[in-house]
Amino acid sequence: MWAMKYNQRYLAKPCIRLKPTCMKTFTTLNIYNSLTSKKEHLIQNDQEKNEKKILTWYSCGPTVYDDAHLGHARTYVCSDIIRRILSNSFNIDTNFIMGMTDVDDKIINKSKEMMMLNNNNNSTNTTDFLQIARKYENEFFNDMDALNIIRPTSVTRVSEYIPDIIKYIETIIDNGYGYESTNGVYFSCEQLGEQYGALARSKLDISTDQQVSESNNNNIKKDPRDFALWKKNNEDTNDAGWDSPWGHGRPGWHIECSAMTHSIVGDSIDIHSGGIDLKFPHHNNEIAQCQAHNNCMEWVDTFIHFGHVHIDGLKMSKSLKNFITIKELLGSDDNGGGGETKVTADDFRLFCLLHHYRSNVTYSMDRIHDANVIRKILDGFLLDIYDLALKKQLLEEAIVVDSNGTNNRKRWLESDITFFNQITNAKEEYLLSLGDDFNTPKAMQIIRDICHNTRKHIQDYDGGVDGENIPPSELLFNIHTWVDTSLKQLGLSTIGTNHINSTNDEDETSIKNDLTLLKSFAEFRCNIRNVARGMKKSEEKFELLDLCDHIRDDVFPKHGYQLRDDGNDEFTIRKL
Ligand SMILES: [Zn+2]
Repeated sequence: MWAMKYNQRYLAKPCIRLKPTCMKTFTTLNIYNSLTSKKEHLIQNDQEKNEKKILTWYSCGPTVYDDAHLGHARTYVCSDIIRRILSNSFNIDTNFIMGMTDVDDKIINKSKEMMMLNNNNNSTNTTDFLQIARKYENEFFNDMDALNIIRPTSVTRVSEYIPDIIKYIETIIDNGYGYESTNGVYFSCEQLGEQYGALARSKLDISTDQQVSESNNNNIKKDPRDFALWKKNNEDTNDAGWDSPWGHGRPGWHIECSAMTHSIVGDSIDIHSGGIDLKFPHHNNEIAQCQAHNNCMEWVDTFIHFGHVHIDGLKMSKSLKNFITIKELLGSDDNGGGGETKVTADDFRLFCLLHHYRSNVTYSMDRIHDANVIRKILDGFLLDIYDLALKKQLLEEAIVVDSNGTNNRKRWLESDITFFNQITNAKEEYLLSLGDDFNTPKAMQIIRDICHNTRKHIQDYDGGVDGENIPPSELLFNIHTWVDTSLKQLGLSTIGTNHINSTNDEDETSIKNDLTLLKSFAEFRCNIRNVARGMKKSEEKFELLDLCDHIRDDVFPKHGYQLRDDGNDEFTIRKL
């Protein structure tokens, strides 16, 4: 009743109110909010009274008329990483809703093209274009599965929310922010006054962008900034669409997300995300619609935008012939994919983790190779540490009693305690990095440092590794579990599970040839290391030992092999 009176009061002269203060929880997590252009504590609205609150997150989905590409891959892998971090590291579950644009001119045009090809008729009906949309929606989710992206909690398709969208537009008109014109219903930016442009780069951009792009419509819009809420079909053509109070037609692009979120979660969302391309005008206009519909300034607390992907320095575009679909990227298209350029889902995810989600990135095979090397280093570390921990466990379990009647194999040395404290601090720093606007490049560096320092601790253990001189098994298992779990929590599913697997004779021959050469190289390294160990403490001594570590930790994995020191000048080489 109060709400009705409120709307009536503002019907004549629209005015946007601030939402009454509701219970909000400020988490410890900092996140960059595009609405304020600064890092802020992530807010959760206190809608749920249960202890583990559910964070409401709406993500604009793809327009389903073609295969998903690298830009989609980056946006949705990054949102998957953030979603996993929220859940696994901060105990925040998400109600992740994805809007699927299955009603759009691009889909309708594709349907018309197909009709022309098949029967020389360029008209299309709703069933025709929705069939195309379903096909590409299925393909999209197959691609997302291949990239190990967790599926949304719910998917809202525009075609399934048409009555809700019509009702939503009616409320905007009733509230005084929409008007009917000859070819559709438009949103009145002027009515919103200064509130319009929440995500615009500047007030100048608002007018120039839209004046240029919609100059043809100037005579049918009250203001060049106004945008379509409903597009009427031309009465002469039999175009696809739905009946509405304003005639047969279809929704404008921006209205779908405002109306669908209203239907499924109400008038308040914790996070809204999408690629940076969607920031203006799409997200900006979504906000305007919600403000007009709800008579309330607040709708989304935090807007997240993911950076661009450039390919070899150029913007990805079909005309530049540098357009890469996800199927080509992963080598899962009908032609067997990109052959030499085939990338694994983990390598691509690591590429995303190594760049901050907001930064613009340049995709190239060199960058993927960098990610691949790091994957192999981590892979080798996990396999190595697990083997070593098992070996030490067997030694610890053996019943050996020395002359004093004690067995000190489980006793921690002073250096174990110091090392454990260092690792504990690093783990805390890891969490802080994730909580600082999801700084995954820093978090990945911390994991790599932990791996490097663990190897160093093993190397230096009690004066150097020999057959039985290994740190306590619990300590090694603990680090192995933490690194393994942390990587899996970020969605890296295969690291630490690889084993030597050569698929054909050609591979086996090539591995044998590599091993012959690498064995000589490893023996040479072993000799250098022995020379260094025999030297007095000096800068040169430590420099030589560091170079030997570099060969083992970086150079071998870079070429797809792991070198493991087994003590007493023995070593193992294996294919990663
Ligand atoms: Zn949207």
